[in-house]
Amino acid sequence: MATYKDLANLIYPNINISIDDLEKKFPKRNLKEGAMVIRFAPSPTGFLHTGSLFTSLLDCYYAHQSGGIFYIRLEDTDTKREIAGSGESLIKQLQAFDVIPDEGYLSDTEEIGAYGPYKQSNRSLIYNTCIKHLIEIGRAYPCFCSAEELQALRQEQEARKEIPGYYGKYAKYRDFPVEEAMAKIQAGDPYIIRFKSMGDHRNKISFHDEIKGDLELTENDQDIVICKSDGLPTYHFAHLVDDHFMRTTHITRGEEWLSSLPIHLELFDSIGFEHPKYAHFPVIMKVDENGNRRKLSKRKDEEAAVSYFLEQGYPKYGFIEYLLTIANSNYEAWRNENLDKDFHEFKLSFDKMSLDGALFDIAKVANISKERMAYRKAKDLALEVKEWAKTYNVPFYNHIIQDEEFFISILNIEREKEKPRKDYAKYSDIYPIISFFFDDVYQAIDKKAFEWNPTISKSDIKAVLEDYYNTMDLSLSEEEWFNSIKELATRHGFADNIKVWKKDKESYKGHVGDVSEFLRIALSGKRNSPNLYYVIQILGENKVKARIKATLDTLE
Ligand code: GLU
Repeated sequence: MATYKDLANLIYPNINISIDDLEKKFPKRNLKEGAMVIRFAPSPTGFLHTGSLFTSLLDCYYAHQSGGIFYIRLEDTDTKREIAGSGESLIKQLQAFDVIPDEGYLSDTEEIGAYGPYKQSNRSLIYNTCIKHLIEIGRAYPCFCSAEELQALRQEQEARKEIPGYYGKYAKYRDFPVEEAMAKIQAGDPYIIRFKSMGDHRNKISFHDEIKGDLELTENDQDIVICKSDGLPTYHFAHLVDDHFMRTTHITRGEEWLSSLPIHLELFDSIGFEHPKYAHFPVIMKVDENGNRRKLSKRKDEEAAVSYFLEQGYPKYGFIEYLLTIANSNYEAWRNENLDKDFHEFKLSFDKMSLDGALFDIAKVANISKERMAYRKAKDLALEVKEWAKTYNVPFYNHIIQDEEFFISILNIEREKEKPRKDYAKYSDIYPIISFFFDDVYQAIDKKAFEWNPTISKSDIKAVLEDYYNTMDLSLSEEEWFNSIKELATRHGFADNIKVWKKDKESYKGHVGDVSEFLRIALSGKRNSPNLYYVIQILGENKVKARIKATLDTLE
């Protein structure tokens, strides 16, 4: 009589190694007590979701804070959903936020570490060895059902109001005689491999999740697919084999996987592997226009893609800091008490993680980034911006590299002091505000279109600008300069103080604020600009004069 072993040998004639061999090849890691081995396991399906960055960042921090290992595994067994090149682009995007693995997949041709391969499509030998073992012990079997048969089964279950799926009495091939199964395989009938569940959905199992605490879950009774017709394993099966042989200590993943946990626990049990600890992270939610909480959606929300933050140029230190505020409820309090500390010094903990979704708030991302960017040294910020602009704003990049010192001095306006200005939330905010500094941008402005104050005559504006042209003095301090502008105002019949003007508007052409505005418009082409004193200092006498001259030429 044919045995399960015969069946296993028929299906996997070339598998000559055993689970014991694999145990020896991938021994337990020699790490200190309490060190966590955590993986991030993305699928190369096109883009890095903000939720995945959140997960991977926490994976990396938790592992490192415990003195353990953070590794990346590429889960590419769903070939239908795979988008070429996206594995490598995921790695690059993670790198941009300093999520760098100690071990694992780096690109389609590179990986590091002794527990690989780290790309699932290269691990068939390992999976097949485990599946072969499950067939030998009668816990996995070939299933020959066609798509039509499964569809008919679903309809039948629906009509009978029964739980849908392939289980128990509905699992047509679970008790199929071995000889007949072998005959079908020999005849070339297509099949997949299913797990043989021993569970019963009327039973409950208890489980402790590192974040969610003690849980009661419904036992699995589904004979799930573990190996598809293309010979590759499903996620459920692959993750158990990989996390076992890569010696993961904590499986951290999104809470959308919690419902499949009973399947995973039964799989671990059936093969005789001890399961790692599980920590299910909160899903990233947002409050939509109607005030409802929903998952960040890749179709509806631009902030669902990490590429959005990279394109916009949110600084990594601002964005990471924001993600930490939604990761642990005590992060903000810690930050307020430790303003000077690096965020790596904060100790993350599972028990401070939200149980009902982490709420994503883009306005807060911007606020935190603004705050953090304001305290960057001009030199450091200039380097970051240059790096960003190289990819995302080439005209800006070209201006930066023309004269980097000039760019640094622009960024340094009202920076590197006790209360710096908080102008920029992201790198892309900078160029629109400062591009007028660059001569070709300034020259391209239509000066006839300058928005002069309509209540003041062009000849008065001209007179003020001419006077400044003749009397400007770059050696003045900010306070002296401001006094000189007041004097300029007085010389031309403008009040040197707004309050005075308000009380007696008839006696003046306008006030000192108007006078600075003429200068501001003439020099920058705009009614808003960074602090005018510094604009003048940075442009220098020649440029200031040239710009005033160009403006005067258009004022008749
Ligand atoms: N490949 C799975 C995903 O991208 C990973 C889930 C896990 O971390 O176990 O959702």
